[in-house]
Amino acid sequence: MNIEYTKERAIRLLRVEGVDLESLYREADSVRRKNMGDDVFIRGIVEFSNMCANNCLYCGIRASNKNVKRYTMGADEILDAAYAMAGSLQSTIVLQSGETPGLKDEELGEVIKRIKRETTLAVTVSAGNRPYETYRYWRECGMDRYLLRFETSDPALYDKLHPGSTLAERLKCLYSLQSLNVQTGSGFMIGVPGETIEMLADNILLCRKLDLDMIGIGPYIPHPRTPLGNEKNVYNGNPEIFFKAVAVLRIFNPDAHIPATTAFDAVFPGEGRNLALQRGANIFMPNNTPVAYRKDYLLYPGKPGVDESPDQSLNAAVLRIESLGRAVGKGPGHSIKSADKCRIRS
Ligand code: SAH
Repeated sequence: MNIEYTKERAIRLLRVEGVDLESLYREADSVRRKNMGDDVFIRGIVEFSNMCANNCLYCGIRASNKNVKRYTMGADEILDAAYAMAGSLQSTIVLQSGETPGLKDEELGEVIKRIKRETTLAVTVSAGNRPYETYRYWRECGMDRYLLRFETSDPALYDKLHPGSTLAERLKCLYSLQSLNVQTGSGFMIGVPGETIEMLADNILLCRKLDLDMIGIGPYIPHPRTPLGNEKNVYNGNPEIFFKAVAVLRIFNPDAHIPATTAFDAVFPGEGRNLALQRGANIFMPNNTPVAYRKDYLLYPGKPGVDESPDQSLNAAVLRIESLGRAVGKGPGHSIKSADKCRIRS
């Protein structure tokens, strides 16, 4: 293993303070600039269904939360959202849902085919663990990318947080996607109850080991209607660690696309995502879900933009990117890694 990318170094960097913290952020920003340039790609996310069969202990749309009004957008509604995005500054549509087929595999497959046929959008799907055959079918329909966070690299903590599911199963899904040549994204939450700084470092190292095309991370935010609702983020009182995690993630994964995720704005209203973009991130994902559904896709409380229209969310994103002196990326913003690379690093 390359000496530069050790767990010890990750932990040391996660603990820096003062002037060392400033140099950590400077280094992360410079690694980002050197490898990914100054463009910020905008990917529009459409939360097409909040139906979910799982009971993840932290998630607001878990199956047992009976307070959630369940919805699934129809194929035509999803296509309308895609048409509205096409030709705007957003060149990727991210179709996200809970983990049970709100739409049948074939229905989502048809939606993917039509988006690919009728627009120039790249298509990313984020719909949880699915069988290899489903991923293969969606790939054949034209799916370009898939997002599936591993959430935590600690197998015991994973088991505890995800009743009836294992980390090994999650990783198997990621390997399936990679073997199908789907640009693969994963990542984790920062500060779930039970996490230690060692685990956080391991999370960053696992991202590197998986050689991911995209890596999304964000602070864990307690949702009152979940079993963990009364347990604070383990870094409560020290939220700087969320940004340190992004910076170290960038240094350890120089050529991955890293979004400034929405949860940063929930913790630092109005500026969290800007700061993430200055400390390693290079992607912004404005919400393109029709406003009528947004309040029903609350993974955590305080999610920003629930009253905005897709246009407003996009315009706000562009203004923020430009205020940082960065440009909106043109074109699909595919992975910059080669398709035939060796996937698993030693
Ligand atoms: N079911 C899909 C999409 C999940 S929602 C899938 O599994 O891929 C997207 C992400 O939101 C999750 O992967 C999780 O990391 C994050 N999330 C869920 N609940 C959260 C909470 N309470 N605080 C912060 N992030 C949360």
